[in-house]
Amino acid sequence: MLKQRARVLITVKASPEPSKNYGDTVCVAGVRLNNDGSGTWVRIYPVAFRHLDSDLKFKKFEVIEVDLAPSSKDARAESYRPNWETLTRKKRNGKFKTYDAEARGPILEKLIGPTMCDLRLGVEVDLNAQSLGLVEVRDLKPLRFEDHGPWSEAQIASMTANMSQPDLFGEVDTTPVLVAPRFKVHYDYLCTSPICKSHKPRILDMELSALQHRYRFKSDAELKAIITTKFHTEMWNANVRTYFFVGNFGDIVKRRNFSVLGVYRPPRAADYFSALF
Ligand SMILES: [Zn+2]
Repeated sequence: MLKQRARVLITVKASPEPSKNYGDTVCVAGVRLNNDGSGTWVRIYPVAFRHLDSDLKFKKFEVIEVDLAPSSKDARAESYRPNWETLTRKKRNGKFKTYDAEARGPILEKLIGPTMCDLRLGVEVDLNAQSLGLVEVRDLKPLRFEDHGPWSEAQIASMTANMSQPDLFGEVDTTPVLVAPRFKVHYDYLCTSPICKSHKPRILDMELSALQHRYRFKSDAELKAIITTKFHTEMWNANVRTYFFVGNFGDIVKRRNFSVLGVYRPPRAADYFSALF
């Protein structure tokens, strides 16, 4: 399989999920920065993010360089397998360099659209149609919560299968087993299609998982209030424009379902797009 060197602006890290081979993995998505100044969506999977050495744990909105090979198991054009041994992170003034709002705005604004309704329609026609996108939110209703429940026995078995097995270097992974979050959280929104009836995707953002873990000793009501502040109030208000990073599932049966992997919310007055011309 042909390997390609890629510069990728990381835009989302999804919630970790139990995985057979790696304990737990995440899906990472971002924008591949092409030499002609354009950007292309890429999905990088699998990433055993929690198990990476700390100096490899790249941040959101960081630009990484890594070798990517088209995924042999996933026919969606955006999907690639990474080779982490080739990962390069750039430092500036001793810190890993992330793109601030001014630097990422012009890259991301060019990728807004199609609407969520159109992305769904695309997958109805062709299962391998555009599978990552940045869609504008026209209206956002209150968050919807449901109990997550414990991992299934199969998920627990897959997570613990390799735990006590030393790796190639004789080292045993000591990362704690992934804790199930308390809630599944869904957005309920309208996209900008005039015929939109609503979308109710689950939020699969690593930051939601981290928030639930950090506040795991709070009551249900307190935890819901914290999540509402971070994922609704701060994301949807008079000061910002709101767009969702969305992506669908690899599983053919679930391919029509798009989740929200993150939120892009520039200041309402920011005009990164016309600055390009
Ligand atoms: Zn819609």
